[in-house]
Amino acid sequence: MIETEILVVGGGPAGTTTAKYLSLAGIKNILIQRNFHFKKPCGGGVRLDAFDTFEIDKNLIEKEVYTLNLVHKKQKISIDITQTPIAIVDRVKFDTALRKQAKEAGTDVYEATFVNLEIFENYVISTIKKEDTFIKIKSKYVVAADGVNSKLRKQVNKENVSATMTHYCDITSQQYTSCTFHVGAQVAQKNYAWAFPHAEGSNIGVVGESQCLSVLKKDLLLEEKTKDLGYKIPNYDNMIFYKTRVFFVGDSASQVLPFTYEGIYYAMGAAKILSNVLINKEPPSAYEKQWKEKYAKKFDTLLKLQKLFLYNDFTIRIMMQLYKSQYIQKQMVLMWLGDRELTINAAFALKVIKRIIQRRK
Ligand SMILES: Cc1cc2nc3c(=O)[nH]c(=O)nc-3n(C[C@H](O)[C@H](O)[C@H](O)COP(=O)(O)OP(=O)(O)OC[C@H]3O[C@@H](n4cnc5c(N)ncnc54)[C@H](O)[C@@H]3O)c2cc1C
Repeated sequence: MIETEILVVGGGPAGTTTAKYLSLAGIKNILIQRNFHFKKPCGGGVRLDAFDTFEIDKNLIEKEVYTLNLVHKKQKISIDITQTPIAIVDRVKFDTALRKQAKEAGTDVYEATFVNLEIFENYVISTIKKEDTFIKIKSKYVVAADGVNSKLRKQVNKENVSATMTHYCDITSQQYTSCTFHVGAQVAQKNYAWAFPHAEGSNIGVVGESQCLSVLKKDLLLEEKTKDLGYKIPNYDNMIFYKTRVFFVGDSASQVLPFTYEGIYYAMGAAKILSNVLINKEPPSAYEKQWKEKYAKKFDTLLKLQKLFLYNDFTIRIMMQLYKSQYIQKQMVLMWLGDRELTINAAFALKVIKRIIQRRK
């Protein structure tokens, strides 16, 4: 039996960030990651400011993006994001570097798989499998950072993470330099399809059915033979923060921003909040409270905007019309990729209408 203060399950952005900050504060912790070579299916797009916020080596940035495009049928709107650029990372290199950072800070990092846990009043006994050996770990708390297929969520809360399927592929015949979002019932139903620069070549995909990926390929005039894959992405509709000595963080907690489905930044953001709560020995409920203070408004606003604007082609046409306004573009970008708060209410709607009328004059 190994003893530690905190066992962190999952070595992606959520788990590694939690482990790193715990170790920097001198809290003993073990991080287990099932496979050190795992390539998380991901576009790899992260807000550039994440590198300063979470103290990550900027050498991990493969590409930088300064333009976003919004495409609906034949209409295309380009949005300048020079003030809030997006970095593209290679997830194998990125996750490996984050695990290395946690290890250098003092975390014991094992290539091992979480199997099950027994919860007692003041501690948890987890069983992990390392190569062919089963090991028991006694800890005060367990952090479930084991992603969208979270085994811990199944065991502790008796449910799967509610999620939507994505279908995607890497391509080499196109070298995109901007991030393009395709919207419309044909290509993305009530979500979006994407064409992003990737660490090598480009990556395209859809949040939704696999036939939408075929529509996207047609729209992009792509003739290349591709290896199409599918993977789930959490829906922000049934978050969980803590239950019986187990904290949830990142995809396992459903902390993916609605509308954009950005998860890396928010996994690390939640991990930073959680590690501070553990370092300061605050009650477990402080994690949920502080997460909600920091992110709930943004998540709720984006969920409302997604439901409103991606409802059908008519509402998408309204969105495209609004996005022609430089004012709207600036507000949306600052809210999405910056930290500007945006309240969607009657006053905001009035302001938008005024701007559109002014523009038409
Ligand atoms: C197709 C697609 C594209 C995406 N594109 C973007 C994007 O461009 N930008 C963005 O911000 N987000 C994107 N996301 C979302 C993003 O990938 C996730 O939100 C993010 O990786 C969540 O981090 P995490 O640490 O919570 O989980 P993960 O990154 O999934 O990490 C969990 C880790 O736990 C390990 N694990 C699982 N089970 C066990 C176990 N039993 N024992 C030990 N280890 C275990 C896994 O191997 C994995 O390494 C995308 C998602 C998909 C599906």
